[in-house]
Amino acid sequence: MVLVGRPNVGKSTLFNRITGRRRAIVAAKPGTTRDTLTQDTEWLGVTFRIVDSGGVFGASTDPLQAQVVEQGMRAMKAANLVLFVVDGREGCVSADEEVVRKVRPLGVPVVMVVNKTDDRRAKNHCLEFYQFGFEPVIEISAEHGLGIGDLLDEVVKALPQQRGTLASKKTNALTDTKIEEVAVAVIGRPNVGKSSLVNRLLHEPRVMVNAQPGTTRDAIDEVLQWHGKSFRLVDTAGIRRAGRVANAEQVEAVSVLVAKRAIKRSAVALVMLDASEEVADQDATIAGEAARSGCGIVIVANKWDLRKSTDPLTAKTFDESVRRKLRFLDFAPILHISALTGERLSKVLETVDRIASARSQRVPTAAVNHFVEKVTRAHSPPSSGRKVVRILYASQIGIEPPSFVFFTNVATKFHFSYERFLINQLRETFGFEGSPIKIHVRRRQK
Ligand code: GDP
Ligand code: GDP
Repeated sequence: MVLVGRPNVGKSTLFNRITGRRRAIVAAKPGTTRDTLTQDTEWLGVTFRIVDSGGVFGASTDPLQAQVVEQGMRAMKAANLVLFVVDGREGCVSADEEVVRKVRPLGVPVVMVVNKTDDRRAKNHCLEFYQFGFEPVIEISAEHGLGIGDLLDEVVKALPQQRGTLASKKTNALTDTKIEEVAVAVIGRPNVGKSSLVNRLLHEPRVMVNAQPGTTRDAIDEVLQWHGKSFRLVDTAGIRRAGRVANAEQVEAVSVLVAKRAIKRSAVALVMLDASEEVADQDATIAGEAARSGCGIVIVANKWDLRKSTDPLTAKTFDESVRRKLRFLDFAPILHISALTGERLSKVLETVDRIASARSQRVPTAAVNHFVEKVTRAHSPPSSGRKVVRILYASQIGIEPPSFVFFTNVATKFHFSYERFLINQLRETFGFEGSPIKIHVRRRQK
């Protein structure tokens, strides 16, 4: 595995960070040539050789530069994996493109490493590096040791299978013991039936429960196992307490606070409504908090037993009215349940589980670009002034919530309606049920 990149992006710092060495020269002056450095190192039982290609790229007056370049190129050609290091603080510059021109023809897998993301300025620049089309893109800080574990996980994944039995045993042991837990927030205005639902879930057949303290002193999470999966009901103490505050105004305020606190720690929010009543302003307030958070969302229309007995209206009319009033949650499925009778209760965890996995889905870049081709043919982006806007390239840049970047030929912002169109198409095509989707638009640099 070889580290490549223009001078001063932090290759040497990263080399030291990975190998645990302190010896290599870290130079703040661009153009300082160094010899290639080689060291064997290990991660999760997989041993690999890491080479710092040194000063292959960038101008230098060093008389030995020709030798350095030759040595570095040799290391690159021999490598089975390239870590292409760039500077997130400065963003994409032409010297990076020079590196791309050398690296691409090698035909070797490339992991894109955006360094110096400890710096606030990196926030604006990280997306630029997706335009090269290398995958994955990992954000790190070599100096502060951030993201190094994630990077090495990717390295081990990308390296050709050369691991011994010991290695695979160790990694398996790791993945086996890591229990994926879906954190769930149960939110809604007072009296919609949050406590009743929580109680019901905890007493479902085949559910095993163990209470665990939450992150704040008075919060209690209830962790339950269902069909071999774990769900964490976040802040059940808060849910129960909110109903017990004396005056009505306080009750409402407290329920918003409890909701906000729980959403922050959750992957999926159950937005509960009382199906025997109209959707109220306060329902919308709480639902809005959930929508902004990036959580996966399920709308749970509770007290469906009352609806059936007092009202001949069908689920369809009810859903239409919910859709009208909670327009911003158009992506969330609606369940009709009764916490009292237990009607359709089994749907709740089933849906949460499905949405949590949809939300952490990763779509390969090739599929995203195939998607772009298809949808822009049907419906091209609106032009920006007199310029025709074309989407040149797109990539998924994150999960939970799924986020995408679209590179265009000119600097532009998509009109709200076009953004909505793309998001809906993404959701339909790739099945991101119940999940908000974030998209970014950037001009592709040439
Ligand atoms: P190389 O020329 O690519 O090997 O880069 P170096 O490792 O010599 O680092 C160049 C400069 O960037 C040094 O001053 C480092 O201290 C600094 N640097 C490296 N990594 C980071 C980082 O993660 N964050 C910040 N803020 N600075 C870094
Ligand atoms: P919370 O304030 O949101 O936690 O609501 P509670 O769980 O305390 O429920 C408020 C009231 O609604 C209680 O009197 C419950 O018995 C009642 N309730 C909850 N779920 C249902 C349901 O599905 N059907 C009916 N008919 N009543 C319900």
